[in-house]
Amino acid sequence: MKTIAPSTAVTTLRQAGIAQTPQRLAVLSLLQKAKSPLSADNIHQQISKRTCIDRVTVYRALSLFRKRGILRDVMSEGGALYVELSTSERPKHPHLRCRHCGVLACMPPVSSDRLGELIDCAAGYLVDEADIHLKGLCASCGRINATGALKETNP
Ligand SMILES: [Zn+2]
Ligand SMILES: [Zn+2]
Repeated sequence: MKTIAPSTAVTTLRQAGIAQTPQRLAVLSLLQKAKSPLSADNIHQQISKRTCIDRVTVYRALSLFRKRGILRDVMSEGGALYVELSTSERPKHPHLRCRHCGVLACMPPVSSDRLGELIDCAAGYLVDEADIHLKGLCASCGRINATGALKETNP
């Protein structure tokens, strides 16, 4: 029998030079499974269902991941900072935010050509980072809005 390949969470921690702890592995695995950015509270709530972990440990793990370059901050809203993994399989990409229900979704990465066109318009600026966020109504809120049932929201 061949040995089972180490899980990607283990590999990612090793490559980033981060010592393994069950808590860090739990935080990283959750981020790997996540389809959209999570806040530290989201992460804490989900992990604490299965593992004994306090909020401070979650924050510490996230700040270590950020320092080692495997975590990126997506956006800060309503006092919560949303983060996601930043690895070679997960290049930077734009996000969609629903103004009504607050859902935050990932979009496919923008091609470097199109990003280049945008940066060309930033005359005189030395651009070293591009965060693109689109805001509006998600598909389900859009459907409710079409029926006129959606209350006015603050932009
Ligand atoms: Zn929505
Ligand atoms: Zn994303």
